[in-house]
Amino acid sequence: MAKSYFWCVGCRRSFDAPDVVDERCPLCGRAMQQVGWVSAFLRGVMAQELVASGLPSRHKAIIRMVWTANGMGERYYKALAPGVPYGKFESAVTEMVCRAAADGWVRIVLPPSPIGAQDGDYRLEIDDEERFIEEMAALFERAVGEADQDRN
Ligand SMILES: [Zn+2]
Repeated sequence: MAKSYFWCVGCRRSFDAPDVVDERCPLCGRAMQQVGWVSAFLRGVMAQELVASGLPSRHKAIIRMVWTANGMGERYYKALAPGVPYGKFESAVTEMVCRAAADGWVRIVLPPSPIGAQDGDYRLEIDDEERFIEEMAALFERAVGEADQDRN
């Protein structure tokens, strides 16, 4: 006899048929859909995938790639001469870009798919370029100040 399952869209998990009363989710009470075991298994795998950990750090890596593209990272670095190694500079500016994007005055634009995408389809849109330069410069003025304090 094929085992059957019920899937709750709200809880994103399946329940064994014997545990289910009136086709209602035992956790949230929502009406559920009866599914076969393959479907229950695949839906469960997908639910895991959709909440996979580590995505925010990959998101940050994409933002880093976008703002440093076309040698912009090196160009900003040379212009600012921040007095820290390039890797440290890149991380600090990436954090700043993430904060600016969270505040909404910088947007990271990505094409809907890499198929057919050009480099120029990945870009930063900066509402206030003056503020961008000032905040970037301020990151390293502070770093230099802290280094001075360490020496005293
Ligand atoms: Zn539920």
